[in-house]
Amino acid sequence: MSTTIGMDIGGTNVRGAIVAEDGTVVREEHRHTPRGFAALSDTILDVVADLRSGPPEVIAVGIGIAALVDFDGRVHFAPNLPGLVNVPLRDQLNEALDLPVVIDNDANVAAWGEAVYGAAAGVRDALLITLGTGIGGGIIAGGALYRGGHGFAAEIGHFTVEPDGPLCACGERGHWEAIASGTALGRMAREAAAAGAAPSILAAAGGHVDAITGYHVTGAVLAGEPDAQQLLDRYAVNVAIGLAGLANILDPTRIVVSGGLIDLGERLLDPVRHAFAGRIEGAALRPAPDIVAATLGDRAGMIGAAALARAER
Ligand SMILES: [Zn+2]
Repeated sequence: MSTTIGMDIGGTNVRGAIVAEDGTVVREEHRHTPRGFAALSDTILDVVADLRSGPPEVIAVGIGIAALVDFDGRVHFAPNLPGLVNVPLRDQLNEALDLPVVIDNDANVAAWGEAVYGAAAGVRDALLITLGTGIGGGIIAGGALYRGGHGFAAEIGHFTVEPDGPLCACGERGHWEAIASGTALGRMAREAAAAGAAPSILAAAGGHVDAITGYHVTGAVLAGEPDAQQLLDRYAVNVAIGLAGLANILDPTRIVVSGGLIDLGERLLDPVRHAFAGRIEGAALRPAPDIVAATLGDRAGMIGAAALARAER
């Protein structure tokens, strides 16, 4: 049996799991993400050592990290991981471990997890998006992960849809992420509440407009509040605008949506599909991609990283 370790390294947590060939998680370990390159690589080694302290034997380690990573496993830029600028993470880990190490972007490995074991299993051309603090994504093209010329492809949140729109976390204005992420949903909710148009969301946040986040919207939608669903429907149009543009470019047969907001299920996907349907080129005269929810939840990254390690070691 070829068992591998999959790791998911984000700004808050370092998570690792032993994953069997069928995608089953055998054992998991978590740590808080420390600051700095040396401390982070020590933490990764510590998690790997703990996971390897018992059976089964592991043949490779796959790592998904919230960063721009090149084909040599060098981290170029990681806005949520201070101290990781132009560092040779794979070489460092290879030196310390007697195992092959494969490293890629966290959204890419999560997409690969869904492509191998989840909602895009068996689909050759798929687009996977994560709606969270930002928008992450992965592109499956011809059955393989599309990585671009440097390994930096599928930063799908960062193209301009509103030249004078809100500032994006990356510093540009009006990127899709700035109007369609969970963070953007929170901002839309504060604007609506300030205008008196979101009473249930305002109440959920204790009456303080500034305290409203995307979570208050989610809660109010799940409670069946019409003002919250109305806001979500407007937000869904923003999501659909980006998806339709990407679908025009990539022609996926399936779009898989993951991230915290997917807890809303059909309450989100239904208005997204509706807004998407008229926006894709030649809408009435072509098959449209299915738009479905991801199935692996927040383990997609670990499971996908483990699968990537098995395939590419
Ligand atoms: Zn951006």
